[in-house]
Amino acid sequence: MKLTILGCSGSLGAPGNPASGYLLSPDDGSSVIVDLGPGTLAALQEIQNPADAHVLFSHLHADHCLDFPSLMVWRRFHPELKATQRHRCLGPAHTPVHLGRLTADEPDDVDDFSDTLEFTAWRHGHTETVGGVEVTPFTASHPGEAYALRMQDPVSGKVVAYSGDSADHPNIVAAARGADLFLCEAGWGPTSEGKIMGMHMSGEEAGRIAAAAGVKRLGLVHIQPWTDKEATLAAARTEFDGEVILGEPGMVFDV
Ligand SMILES: [Zn+2]
Ligand SMILES: [Zn+2]
Repeated sequence: MKLTILGCSGSLGAPGNPASGYLLSPDDGSSVIVDLGPGTLAALQEIQNPADAHVLFSHLHADHCLDFPSLMVWRRFHPELKATQRHRCLGPAHTPVHLGRLTADEPDDVDDFSDTLEFTAWRHGHTETVGGVEVTPFTASHPGEAYALRMQDPVSGKVVAYSGDSADHPNIVAAARGADLFLCEAGWGPTSEGKIMGMHMSGEEAGRIAAAAGVKRLGLVHIQPWTDKEATLAAARTEFDGEVILGEPGMVFDV
């Protein structure tokens, strides 16, 4: 399995780094987009045909889904590379309405995208097979319906876990348990002290969760453009003895 960071800037894009979006490439040759924040569709075009992929949403904050309307244009109208099959789309229950509004022509319309994507709502703890990977969502601690995702190759048993956006919560430890790669948000920078509850994690908390879950590698993502990344990395390393990496766009992890 390969995991490519399309963009991992926290809450909004940064120069040279789109907002949140990842490409998971399971060993069977299928492709799975995991979040599609602003700027990530352009990055995806440099790697493969964006229409040849399933689409997962951890949650529907703008920084995780705003390239969806552009993906719909590509899937439906690209002269040579439009979608030739319906792919799966999984996300919070309100995904068809929320994203359907983004692709509709009139303010109160909801575009029905079932012509090109087959939608299924996440259910906490219920594993879905998406292309060549098994994905289990865990309810996250974040405003609105949000999930951490545990993605496992059924043949090799390798696991990539992704926190999505979440505050520190036992479900994130469960999602990341024993993962070969854990991409964890550190939206609050080095520490959560003085920050809003129930929204994001710090590097320190990401490190603590990585240690509690016994992951092999920790990748820190979703760090906001105004935050000190090196201090966030150092904070994670105070809590986790394993390998800790600062996520950067274009980074590819072999799992
Ligand atoms: Zn976010
Ligand atoms: Zn969010």
